[in-house]
Amino acid sequence: MFKFLKVLVKNILQGPATEAFPLQPAKTPDRFRGRVTLNPDLCVGCGICSHVCSGDAIRIIPNEEKTGYHYTVWYNSCCLCGSCTYYCPTKAITMTNNWHNSHKQDDKFKMAEHHFIPYLKCDGCGAPIRLLPPHLATRIYAHSPVDIEKIIRLCPSCRQIATAERQGELNESNPE
Ligand code: SF4
Ligand code: SF4
Repeated sequence: MFKFLKVLVKNILQGPATEAFPLQPAKTPDRFRGRVTLNPDLCVGCGICSHVCSGDAIRIIPNEEKTGYHYTVWYNSCCLCGSCTYYCPTKAITMTNNWHNSHKQDDKFKMAEHHFIPYLKCDGCGAPIRLLPPHLATRIYAHSPVDIEKIIRLCPSCRQIATAERQGELNESNPE
């Protein structure tokens, strides 16, 4: 009896071992895979996330005027696999610790994140482009003598030409 009372008092003093949810917010670990979210500034519209999406939850549709694209992630189709975040080359899409995905049937079409992402014009040829995120450009062109500020504003073809031209200039000024 004394042993039992000792355990009882110890447990009362320690307090509850379980979370107080729903009376308080639930804690989630740092690497928890909750709702995905997009940073439109980093998205280049490559479509890799949509291609690898196992839940078919991502839609990327150009607008009629071809001035940009609509990007939608449907939370109620997402199975939280994390493939989009893994394969996105710019890290534009990430997972949050928001696990609040339950909803009424009437609200199913509200369970989505929508963005309209506009195209810019390539400084070289005027083709519609998305800005190459500087952190990605710095890695891609780490060993190329290009101006990162200029290269990120070019389409892939103009980037190739600019890189070759810059290399040619350097070769001419430093013949071996
Ligand atoms: S979120 Fe990432 S993978 Fe998806 S289109 Fe944008 S840049 Fe590409
Ligand atoms: S976590 Fe998986 S299912 Fe959800 S949007 Fe990303 S790829 Fe699709």
